[in-house]
Amino acid sequence: MKNKPVSVKEIIEEFRDQLIHQYGEKEVMQFLYLLFDSWKGWTKAQVHLEKSHELKVEEVARFDSALDKLKKNNPIQYIIGETCFHGIRLKVNPDVMIPRPETEELVAAVAHDINHRKYKDLSILDICTGSGCIAISLKKLFPSAAVAAVDVSSGALQIARNNARINNCHIQFILSDILDEATWKNFPTCHIIIANPPYVTEREKAMMKKNVLDYEPSIALFVPDDNPLLYYQAITDLSVVHLLSPGQLYFEINEHFADEIKKLLLSKGFQGVEILSDIHQKLRFAKAEL
Ligand code: GLN
Repeated sequence: MKNKPVSVKEIIEEFRDQLIHQYGEKEVMQFLYLLFDSWKGWTKAQVHLEKSHELKVEEVARFDSALDKLKKNNPIQYIIGETCFHGIRLKVNPDVMIPRPETEELVAAVAHDINHRKYKDLSILDICTGSGCIAISLKKLFPSAAVAAVDVSSGALQIARNNARINNCHIQFILSDILDEATWKNFPTCHIIIANPPYVTEREKAMMKKNVLDYEPSIALFVPDDNPLLYYQAITDLSVVHLLSPGQLYFEINEHFADEIKKLLLSKGFQGVEILSDIHQKLRFAKAEL
């Protein structure tokens, strides 16, 4: 397709021809809608109505490069550099995990509880913030809350800071390794602690797709087979010290360790410990209070 103007119709045909066997028709069209939205500001309807529109040479080159990347399983969110999460737009790059729909469910569950509890001077701490998706979406929902967010990766924090700025949110970002207890003194006390830490075991890698394995940051995903609760132990201990009373702790979890995480929380004195399922009926969240 290189070095000459090409019509939208031809772009669509090329993408279908080259990608359909890999992704199926529906997903290929979703990619095209996202690319046209991101690069030309077009709606889905426009993609169909403007089929004879000719794209400039530079635009064709961008679509060509996207096609190449998709063939190599590069996630569409990294190609366009952004994604939607709980009604907000977030920039993403391979320094951050692409926010998942399950995590939107977690935000919705936390928001529901906050609305019922009516905290005074609400404060929230998001641990392993990555793109900042949890911290920023909660700050949008509760603008008067004091929100802090922690991550060990400076690349991730750079993205999270930028996402907070784009979404007009003031959030305190802290670069810190939560596995290093000496750094906990840098964290504020708060009513809500929420964390989506790495929880996929090395053993589970074999079942994961190439778009995740080859492109997403392994530091955000994986835990050793012999210590899968590593982050949950640290965050639970930290929460014993940093949660205000009344206060609540929320985790996104690996479905295979729900029982162990429940036991861990009970052993550290948490009450009202509950395991919640996601929309796929997987045991995906834990919540507890002090
Ligand atoms: N849910 C993510 C996945 O499916 C893993 C998230 C995490 O490790 N915190 O890849």
